[in-house]
Amino acid sequence: MVDFTLTDEQQALRDMAHDFAEKEIRPVAWEFDRDGTWPEQVLRKSWELGLMNSHLPEEYGGPGASFFDGALIEEELSWGCSGIATSIAANGLATAPIVLGASDDLKRRYLGMLAEAPLYASFCLTEPDAGSDVSGMRTTAVRKGDKWVINGSKCFITNGGYASYFTVYAKTDKDAGHRGISAFIVPKDDTVTVDKKEDKMGQRASNTASVSFNDTEIPADHLIGEENKGFKLAMMTLDRTRPGVAAMATGIARAALEFAVDYSKQRVQFGVPIAMHQAIQFMIADMATKVHLARLATWQSAVLLDQGRRNTIESSHAKRFAADAAMEVATDAVQVYGGYGFIKEYPVEKLMRDAKIMQLYEGTSQIQRLVIARETLLPRRDQAPVAAGA
Ligand SMILES: Cc1cc2nc3c(=O)[nH]c(=O)nc-3n(C[C@H](O)[C@H](O)[C@H](O)COP(=O)(O)OP(=O)(O)OC[C@H]3O[C@@H](n4cnc5c(N)ncnc54)[C@H](O)[C@@H]3O)c2cc1C
Repeated sequence: MVDFTLTDEQQALRDMAHDFAEKEIRPVAWEFDRDGTWPEQVLRKSWELGLMNSHLPEEYGGPGASFFDGALIEEELSWGCSGIATSIAANGLATAPIVLGASDDLKRRYLGMLAEAPLYASFCLTEPDAGSDVSGMRTTAVRKGDKWVINGSKCFITNGGYASYFTVYAKTDKDAGHRGISAFIVPKDDTVTVDKKEDKMGQRASNTASVSFNDTEIPADHLIGEENKGFKLAMMTLDRTRPGVAAMATGIARAALEFAVDYSKQRVQFGVPIAMHQAIQFMIADMATKVHLARLATWQSAVLLDQGRRNTIESSHAKRFAADAAMEVATDAVQVYGGYGFIKEYPVEKLMRDAKIMQLYEGTSQIQRLVIARETLLPRRDQAPVAAGA
């Protein structure tokens, strides 16, 4: 039987995340957006409440929340501010490859570290010349005795400036394309430099930085999974994290819809609230439909993971649809506000800027379509898709 009713526990979790978003995130969201500063206090509180690292398995000190629970949390936090939500969620992206492929020792050490203290980890896949096509990456890992030596630069790394360790993808066989990529855990040390903090259009509260590894030595056992199997690990990671991005996109869209609904009832033009004009009603109706469908696709892609099933196409459906919906709904919310929507003093301007990143990170909307087309035209369930993008 298909049932979309939340259990009492799920409802309580959602209420808790909403309460946090309403009381701790919303009141400061526009300030952090304006200043582009790091919301340390908010992040720390989210860690204390278990809203950060909700995915960490119980055996390594985490709450062991399901993917579905994670989607509930991420929609609410993103409703508050998707920049702050991105920084809260980024440990999930960084640790997914560890959960999937690392040894028990590494899991105990590096997952346990995040459970014990409010620390950050970053996922390092993208490079200046290797975005959607990660097979072009230039970062290398060379085995020297009982160590790996990492060299290269990663860009657009979420929380990169604050991470205690990084999950880094590097070439271990330069001539083997995506079959020559391996994944490593790299603790921050003096050889790891944070080169540039990006000044972004939206999600300005999240930290996005370039990170370089300069003859960075790590123990041989810090390889995650098997050598040269890093690309598959990255694809499996993104299958697991894209429902979370879709949930965040749904949160932005929902926030924009709510602001637009309220404003349309207050703003009077031609003698009536603009909500009385059918053109506005239809815009609101389309926005509501998009929020509804984005959530349903998100929930389904998360539930498949909780059932232990492959969700490659479903997570791309959800991520693509919800991201595009967030952009469209936020743009329409600005339209409902008219000229005021274009002014920073009003809330929907930020939402429109924030929504844009949903179509870009963790695989652009074009890359999601590539995955969907590939899985639809050639539904070989045992093969990873050809394109990535973190
Ligand atoms: C704020 C922010 C946070 C990020 N966080 C992280 C992070 O934590 N870790 C990480 O590793 N990366 C991160 N990224 C990187 C992000 O995942 C990449 O920017 C994204 O994958 C796209 O890569 P690119 O920017 O190089 O664009 P490109 O790959 O150069 O793409 C440019 C355009 O071409 C299109 N395109 C490319 N190839 C194809 C194709 N085959 N068919 C059709 N269209 C195509 C793309 O869709 C896009 O529209 C982040 C980026 C940003 C902006």
